[in-house]
Amino acid sequence: MYQALYRKYRPDNLSDVIGQKVIVNTLINSIKNNKITHAYLFTGPRGTGKTSIAKAFAKLINCEAPKDSKPCGVCVSCTQTSMKQNTDIIEIDAASNNGVDEIREIRNKVTLVPTYSKYKVYIIDEVHMLTTGAFNALLKTLEEPPKHVIFILATTEPHKIPSTILSRCQRFDFRKITDSDIVERLKYICKNENVDIEESALYEIANLSDGGMRDSISLLDQIISYVDKNQVITENDVHDVSGTLNFDKMFEFTKTIINKDLNSILSLLKLYDENGINIKKFIEQLIKFFENIILSKETPSYLESITNKFDKFTEFKDIEITPLLNCIEILNETLYKISNSTNPKILLELSLIRIVENFKADNLNKTLKENSIIDVKNQEKKDKTYEKKHNASKVHNDIENDEICYRFKSYEKYERFKKQRINNVLSNLEKSRIPLFKSNFDTLKQRIIDPTYGKFISLLLDAQIKAASKDGVIIVFEQKSSSESFNENIPLVEKLINEVFADEIKIISTYLDDWNIIKTEFNSKQKKYEYDFDLIKEEDIYEKENNTENEIQQTFNDCIEYI
Ligand SMILES: [Zn+2]
Repeated sequence: MYQALYRKYRPDNLSDVIGQKVIVNTLINSIKNNKITHAYLFTGPRGTGKTSIAKAFAKLINCEAPKDSKPCGVCVSCTQTSMKQNTDIIEIDAASNNGVDEIREIRNKVTLVPTYSKYKVYIIDEVHMLTTGAFNALLKTLEEPPKHVIFILATTEPHKIPSTILSRCQRFDFRKITDSDIVERLKYICKNENVDIEESALYEIANLSDGGMRDSISLLDQIISYVDKNQVITENDVHDVSGTLNFDKMFEFTKTIINKDLNSILSLLKLYDENGINIKKFIEQLIKFFENIILSKETPSYLESITNKFDKFTEFKDIEITPLLNCIEILNETLYKISNSTNPKILLELSLIRIVENFKADNLNKTLKENSIIDVKNQEKKDKTYEKKHNASKVHNDIENDEICYRFKSYEKYERFKKQRINNVLSNLEKSRIPLFKSNFDTLKQRIIDPTYGKFISLLLDAQIKAASKDGVIIVFEQKSSSESFNENIPLVEKLINEVFADEIKIISTYLDDWNIIKTEFNSKQKKYEYDFDLIKEEDIYEKENNTENEIQQTFNDCIEYI
């Protein structure tokens, strides 16, 4: 049977452990000096060797004749351990056995003396998962442990462990393993397994594993099975298997964000998604990339010491820090939300829209500041920029005064309203109006002044104009949820459009699947479309919502749940 590489290369002896030198030395010395305690707590990120060290430590303290701090390998305890038959070393995964009963069973059995060894060692992995009842039961044992019992508690989340338990343990904080330590270990494994791999690929694996040895070996394992035998493994193979992007692609993508080019951002994301990108990993990569941009501005010498792509990052040196920080914050938030989401791509799309808005808002704030200086200097001179700014802030103020946010009164009425608006446009099509709407919507881009206002405009720009008449326009979103969020705020969007363009336009959106049906029906002339003059009133469809929480972001979150 095939044995996973990370199991095959799990260190048997403490001295074979990579990284964690301080911890290993402390443990070895505690054995030498007869200073073994009854409870240890191993904390630290996943894959940093907590369980491996716990097992190696258990084997060593139970060996009858250790030599140079290594187990002899021939005594009863050693052989039983090697055959995984040592009933004195007990591993418990608290993630799956988090009940009181399991811990009670330990309590009943701890009084029994070990069969083959000096000590009974209980290794409880993911110990933070234990229930309160189980912790209490464990505490009872820890308060008066029999001489022959040792507990090793391992966890990635020490803050979830009761202080009463913590105070009874000797604590060891495991650190992330350095890239060079990981690369060294991977090199050793590849040599042993007769695998040809480029050095840059090894570093990329280490980089993606973020200090986790187990993750890095598992990734290597997957790549080995993916690549044809006798073929050299390259950096690109690493990205293919892990669903991540190489530096050049990350660079290209980051540039489109900074250029606020929403079209390219969303098309690139779509392409990557179709190619099987791992959205979670991708967000992590983006965060790291933006962090590096900030470092390139704030502490260039440090960045230079940790990357060989330093020159590339300095290309972004003129960007303001604030939107970069906001960007990382939004991405972190997304990363957190994504674990509960069935559609991570949409979540990321929305976050990218927010990020672009942030960059736009920052630019506009700057422009406005500059303009106001000019305005003071030339008080009489009202140039075009000033006019624009003036109009935009006027509209903006109206919105603020009203504290507008809408929602549908009834979904049924909304459906009728949507149908009427679509039919009215289709009955009076004027193709020549489409370019006009396009350029008008483009003009709106410059009107994004604050986050409240910008959200609606950027939504609008995300859709495609599909049909137009003298007084109406149909726009189409790819997703139903986007379309509904947009339609829910039509009164607001229309108010903006009508004020900015001094024109009464009835706007309505739908989504791609729906639009394809409408288009087919229309083109096949199956239906007659007549303009309905008895227009359904907005106040019958919408009600104002004063709850400030019900911003568009909230609306989106709700939509995401049921897509
Ligand atoms: Zn032994």
